[in-house]
Amino acid sequence: MAPEAARAGEAEEQLRAYVEYFRDLGVHDFYRRGEPVVEAHVAADSVVVQPERAGSPETPVEAPVVAETRPVARTPVAAANVVAPPPTIEIPETAIPKLVSFDDLTPLPEVRVAAAARPAALKAIQEEIGDCTRCPLAYAGRRKIVFADGDPSARLMFVGEGPGADEDAQGLPFVGKAGQLLNNMIAAMGLKREQVYIANIVKCRPPANRVPEPEEANTCTQFLVKQIDVVQPEVIVALGSTAATYLLGVKQSLAGLRGHWHKCRGAKLAVTYHPAFLLRDPRQKGEAWKDLQMVMKELGLKAPAKN
Ligand code: URA
Repeated sequence: MAPEAARAGEAEEQLRAYVEYFRDLGVHDFYRRGEPVVEAHVAADSVVVQPERAGSPETPVEAPVVAETRPVARTPVAAANVVAPPPTIEIPETAIPKLVSFDDLTPLPEVRVAAAARPAALKAIQEEIGDCTRCPLAYAGRRKIVFADGDPSARLMFVGEGPGADEDAQGLPFVGKAGQLLNNMIAAMGLKREQVYIANIVKCRPPANRVPEPEEANTCTQFLVKQIDVVQPEVIVALGSTAATYLLGVKQSLAGLRGHWHKCRGAKLAVTYHPAFLLRDPRQKGEAWKDLQMVMKELGLKAPAKN
């Protein structure tokens, strides 16, 4: 490879790592210096929005995408001393997808699945997913659909963002480097991986490990809701900002979400850093350990004695 191309590749890699670092902290929107701040998801002059999927035959009954009306700032013509506020345009009611928490998506089932029936109930969800083509990720190089891994009656459930390359190849969540760290975190809590349940917001790998688009996540989460309702964990741990955003229906920094309990489908929900983030910034492992200790206290778990 030519040295310039190698340097460009390195710079791109560094930029990606930098952006991911902030994404893991819950900072999603970036603006160039001097650029006026516009609403998230709204590009400069052209307003690109995800249409509501309700009505499509593949849309879940409890379609999570609803809409709201928001004034959107238009990028003004660049001029050094323009001080007038930018004009606003109204986006039609149906245009902007709004986040809906898992609790607000659909009521809890009246009849709870008994422990003995949970493996079959999960299998039925997997069969319902089938060789899924409900969202664009099906056509974006996916190899395997990553359903979940672990105990169908786990007291503790971890939810990540979406499969990476290793998970896509093996069809199992968290089996790459981030998965090794997650395994260590689970072991530090005095548990085995087989004793917890592990799943993701999306079940197919987003190309180049990008963040799932709202359309993809909103299409996929109907199945995660059902999985949670079958497993009925006492505690859910949201790993990183994408999981927290969709489970709780809020787009907030991890700093604001960590350190206290939230609710999700009858379980208590804690938010912590994604293991991939901890691999990039190991200094935050102590903070993540505090989050896990909060979970251990809730579940009455003791850290294993050190040899
Ligand atoms: N990162 C995730 O969010 N999920 C996985 O399964 C693997 C890596």
